[in-house]
Amino acid sequence: MGTEQLVIIGSGPAGWTAAIYAARANLEPLCLIGVPRSNPAPVLPGGQLMLTTDVENYPGFPDGITGPDMMERFQSQAERFGAKIKGVDVVKCDFASHPFRLECSDGETIEAVSVIIATGATANWVGLDNELRLATSGGGVSACAVCDGALPMFRDKPLAVIGGGDSAMEEASYLTKFASMVHVIHRRDSFRASQVMQARVLEADNAQVHWNKRLVDVLGDDFIFAVALEDTVTGEPSTLEVSGLFVAIGHTPATAFLEGSGIDLDAAKYVVLQGQTAHTSIDGVFAAGDVADSTYRQAVTAAGMGCRAALDAERWLSEHD
Ligand code: NAP
Repeated sequence: MGTEQLVIIGSGPAGWTAAIYAARANLEPLCLIGVPRSNPAPVLPGGQLMLTTDVENYPGFPDGITGPDMMERFQSQAERFGAKIKGVDVVKCDFASHPFRLECSDGETIEAVSVIIATGATANWVGLDNELRLATSGGGVSACAVCDGALPMFRDKPLAVIGGGDSAMEEASYLTKFASMVHVIHRRDSFRASQVMQARVLEADNAQVHWNKRLVDVLGDDFIFAVALEDTVTGEPSTLEVSGLFVAIGHTPATAFLEGSGIDLDAAKYVVLQGQTAHTSIDGVFAAGDVADSTYRQAVTAAGMGCRAALDAERWLSEHD
């Protein structure tokens, strides 16, 4: 295989949007879309939206759309303009010399003049079988309250949030707008979240904190009806009836394959961008979406970042031709 002008790694909203823009600019991008994995939690080409049922907040879909349907449409749009697709993971990157070299999971090494990293981040899960089963089947378990909390099935119902960081506080405060009661379940007796975010939850009339509680099971066949807990101090078991569970115990950016590549990552391993651009610390390597954004994490913000990365890459390629 010859040297590719532009390789896009990742196939969520950021990767496909970058592919649409780059393909329309005749860059013939090669999209490395990943391979499905199920351990410890499911990861699919298409990213986190593949595990999302209804998407109601992406502009242009007034009746909503399912996450997998949306990703299929993104992919078709990129293919229509000539994006090339390969179902491999990148396992190692060599950005020390040019063209860059990307080692893939099928043993092949791809050479690229420029690269867009759009591998996303995965929500951390507690790791219980029923939690993951109900999360993937639309059974009322989610890792994103902003995405799913406003769905009719959660309105005026008791809901649970797991976690004690800023994400858990943000999700819990958001859910107080819809839920009859928000139960925040935390494994210790104090939150690590900032005081101001904690206060919003602790002062809400319809939020209740369950300290020193560990999630041990999620109960429900097609839909969650309760969570099983265990006291982390006394070991005492308990059950809490809820109609939804939001797991907010952090995210892990998919950057393990960048270790040793020389790309600057922050303390939490997210790719560091140069100011308001998609440029990374390595000239000719760009990043977009949740892999470089621990704050907004929305499909529409990731898509916007993908557009920005393609435009930056196009400009960079024309300047370096
Ligand atoms: P985080 O700060 O790492 O907090 C994760 C929370 O989940 C911790 O309370 C942790 O408990 C708990 N946890 C971890 N693994 C668990 C498990 N297996 N079972 C039960 N609980 C578990 O993650 P985050 O809240 O996503 O925040 C990440 C970063 O983004 C932070 O720097 C945060 O400040 C920032 N952030 C900021 C905002 C904002 O300012 N608007 C919003 C969201 C996030 P322990 O406390 O016991 O370790």
